[in-house]
Amino acid sequence: MTSQLALFQAAVMQSWNAIVITAADRAAGYPVQIANSAFCTMTGYTMDELRGRSLKLLQGPETDAEVIDRLRACLREGRFFEGTAINYRKDGTRYVVQWNITPIRDEGGVLTHFVSVQQDISDRVHAQRETRLLARALDAASDPILVTDTQRRIVFANTAFAEVSGYPVSEIVGKTPALFRSGKQGDAFYAQLQASLENGRDFRATFVNKRRDGSLYHAEQSISPITDELGRITHYVCVGKDISERVVMEKALRVAATQDALTGLYNRGHGERLLDEAVRRRTVERPFSVVVCDIDHFKAVNDRFGHPAGDRVIENVAHILRQSIRSSDAAIRWGGEEFVILLDDCPMEVALMLAERIRARVQDHVDEEVGKVTASLGLAMHAHGESASQVFERADAALYEAKRGGRNRVVVAPSR
Ligand code: GH3
Ligand code: MG
Ligand code: MG
Repeated sequence: MTSQLALFQAAVMQSWNAIVITAADRAAGYPVQIANSAFCTMTGYTMDELRGRSLKLLQGPETDAEVIDRLRACLREGRFFEGTAINYRKDGTRYVVQWNITPIRDEGGVLTHFVSVQQDISDRVHAQRETRLLARALDAASDPILVTDTQRRIVFANTAFAEVSGYPVSEIVGKTPALFRSGKQGDAFYAQLQASLENGRDFRATFVNKRRDGSLYHAEQSISPITDELGRITHYVCVGKDISERVVMEKALRVAATQDALTGLYNRGHGERLLDEAVRRRTVERPFSVVVCDIDHFKAVNDRFGHPAGDRVIENVAHILRQSIRSSDAAIRWGGEEFVILLDDCPMEVALMLAERIRARVQDHVDEEVGKVTASLGLAMHAHGESASQVFERADAALYEAKRGGRNRVVVAPSR
């Protein structure tokens, strides 16, 4: 039968942990009596080289003196020790060791040995240092970054994310990204996001996020699943770019491209597109109407009161047009003092009433300096199969008739 002692010996010698037993002989520098193979592997010394030697041989220039002082005190007083320090292998390379030392006493209570269990934690320390370094690098990055676990709980947010979202990092960590949902993106958007991530694919989109103060911002975000050695998803990393400024600018550019600078009405280019669109969209039951409106004797206004006064009169008429139409209609500054109105889904009687109202309002309006002006209007209802330019030309011909008939009037183009 195997003895207890043989079992203990086997356990010590086979342990993955480095184990070393020294004599409690202070004068001899606590000489090694037994070292297991893990200890020999860790230090690079053979058992024969270690036997009878003091473990001081493992210390070197970077070994923390404070830890060694504490160790000495524990050995002297026969107390338990635990610590971490840098040690040196036989070949001079460094490693970080974490170890404990247990004093052993005989039946009479006399200190006879120390048993030390040691671990080389260099890899762990290195990994921790690397993690800290990466975290610091991520934090210094100017793009907002979020890391969530598989439960969508946020485990990391960098300073840039905190800044753009308006939440301090401490309020973000532990929450889910639902915190930033603006409600501007529907279930379909999030379903697509979910499907991508569950299939291990990156998801890239412009998110409309909500800041802590409730304001919204656009963020171009790319979310990637992170997998472990076995290919299982452990985290999601979301890297964003705050593009609010760009979105605002693009919107401004879009508006500028469609708007007339003086009046704020649509410009001619956009008006032509709207007219084409109206022709394409037209259904038999819902024809649209085109009104062309031109200020009467406008040259005289410019001549008598100057160009700026003329501009103001144009603005006044534009204002009247805007006030007179429905939100589904469009008012366009077609040229100098000529306007076009597109009346969506509008029967002829209603279109005529509206044109007449515009005419009356222009006539009634009094400019402080210029006084009253009048306008003439031509009206045509789009006929089935008619092109955009054809319906426009009919409205323009009706306007010409209005001018010829004495101005300050509405003429309806004969139906085709
Ligand atoms: P009619 O009754 O036949 O329309 O006579 P009219 O004098 O209005 O003639 P027309 O429509 O041909 O003349 C338009 C004038 O409007 C010519 C131009 O000097 C002036 N005009 C064009 N664009 C602007 C502008 O942006 N500001 C000002 N102040 N005047 C403009
Ligand atoms: Mg005119
Ligand atoms: Mg004109």
